[in-house]
Amino acid sequence: MWWPCKDHQSDEPDSGVVIAVRVPDTLTNVSNGKLKKVITHSDHTKTWVWEVKNPINNYSVSMNIGKYVLIEDQYKGLGGPLTLNYYFLQDHKDSALVQLKQIKPMLDCFEHWFGKYPFYQDGYKLVEVPYLGMEHQSNVTYGNRFKNGYLGKDISTSGWGMHWDYIIIHESAHEWFGNNITAKDIADMWIQEGFTTYSETLFSEWLDGRIAGEEYNFGSRKRIKNDSPIIADYNVNASGSGDMYFKSAAMIHSIRMAMNNDDQFRQMLLGLNKAFWHATITTSDVERKMNSYTRFTLDKIFDQYLRKTTIPVLEYYFSVSGNKLVYRWTNAVDGFNLPLVIQTDMKPVTIVPKLNEWQEFTFPLGMINATQMQNLAKRFYIQLMEKKELVISSN
Ligand SMILES: [Zn+2]
Repeated sequence: MWWPCKDHQSDEPDSGVVIAVRVPDTLTNVSNGKLKKVITHSDHTKTWVWEVKNPINNYSVSMNIGKYVLIEDQYKGLGGPLTLNYYFLQDHKDSALVQLKQIKPMLDCFEHWFGKYPFYQDGYKLVEVPYLGMEHQSNVTYGNRFKNGYLGKDISTSGWGMHWDYIIIHESAHEWFGNNITAKDIADMWIQEGFTTYSETLFSEWLDGRIAGEEYNFGSRKRIKNDSPIIADYNVNASGSGDMYFKSAAMIHSIRMAMNNDDQFRQMLLGLNKAFWHATITTSDVERKMNSYTRFTLDKIFDQYLRKTTIPVLEYYFSVSGNKLVYRWTNAVDGFNLPLVIQTDMKPVTIVPKLNEWQEFTFPLGMINATQMQNLAKRFYIQLMEKKELVISSN
């Protein structure tokens, strides 16, 4: 098969595509967008013509040919009625109906955090395929064997990942990060995979509460390798480390914890999808937009997590009796400025450690215990090194 096209993510056809696929008349072809017409030919073949109205990345264009049955539904969302069309093999219809119950809560969750589903005119589809799945725009493919988790396993090992179907949730979240917002260069694929992977944390939280989301995010950090930077070289068709999934999601969670204001964090995610609606962008576009929602600047935080493989270490000495905390960053990039919010028995306390430079903070009596300090390593993607004695040196 040969499809001449401009094979680059920086450019998408402004007004969509028309896809026409001719197959034996016993089969159905399902492609992106909405079915425009089916042409019957005299030689026992049919041409299925699909039309996408919106800009689409060319890797999203797909054809799925099989003996499908159509299951139709509708979602009443932020953009009005959204057509939900599901194509599954006849024998799998009952299993599919069970998994498909997750679609509407998922759309509720994603429209809440990310904004309106980006392709109302083209509808939402889920189509069975023999492989695991893929985020084809308005034509998400599914092969997760009708099991929750990732092929029946919880990728985070926290247990929470078994409450939903990984492929339905992950591939559908790409409609916002990947298909609505597309990285211009594959060097910046973290924009697509990082926010999409973070959607898994948000969906766990949506179903099972805040602790579930935090534990899912923390558990999935085990998959981070820190083998090479997430952002690769630009303009040479290079992609970065597989850490673009879980490490980017850990970074996004750390930024959320540092903001300590979920409404503002949500406004940031909504703002990204609005500002970059159907657009192709770069990391610096994301950074600039996110900076307008955070009290701290993100350049050093992006340098640390996206362009380096070291994990920042918070060295600290904590005296419970004296309620005194002495702290500094080591193993971090120059100017690393991630604020840490310590949840105490009373109000949250924000500290902004500096690289190699000790600072101290004295808590009111009885405000904090050692566990609350240790919890920092769960809420932020950092390592803790507690010093039992305070020996302040300059290196
Ligand atoms: Zn993905």
